[in-house]
Amino acid sequence: MGGMGGMGGRASRNRAVDGQDEYYNLVLTFKEAVFGAEKEIEITRLESCGTCDGSGAKPGTKPSKCSTCGGQGQVVTSARTPLGVFQQVMTCSSCGGSGETFSPCNTCSGDGRVRRTKRISLKVPAGVDSGSRLRVRSEGNAGKERWVSW
Ligand SMILES: [Zn+2]
Ligand SMILES: [Zn+2]
Repeated sequence: MGGMGGMGGRASRNRAVDGQDEYYNLVLTFKEAVFGAEKEIEITRLESCGTCDGSGAKPGTKPSKCSTCGGQGQVVTSARTPLGVFQQVMTCSSCGGSGETFSPCNTCSGDGRVRRTKRISLKVPAGVDSGSRLRVRSEGNAGKERWVSW
């Protein structure tokens, strides 16, 4: 039962990072709403790691065959039960089923993405509803932010 598990369970290392919207709420004071203001806000974004180019692998290193599973991505374990010895195929935990191991990038710890905080200034137009919340949307990972929903 369940012996076929792990087939095709390749870990994907290329997670999509683009097109992710983030929302921030900015609470305006009455004055800021009436006269407009220039606010500085801090946003945190996940960006593709520049050190490893998002691959998660240490630059200059190549993925090598996983020594735990010999590149198979699966390991066979035997379990002794009262009914006999059963062999169980499991996804290799060392490589996550990919059959390869790589030295993780120091910057992003192998994740391929880094959290970056940056301050940006935002022009709040005059005449916004006081006390209204401003929803800020940042787009993608190309370093572009777009602000919507006044
Ligand atoms: Zn990296
Ligand atoms: Zn392995």
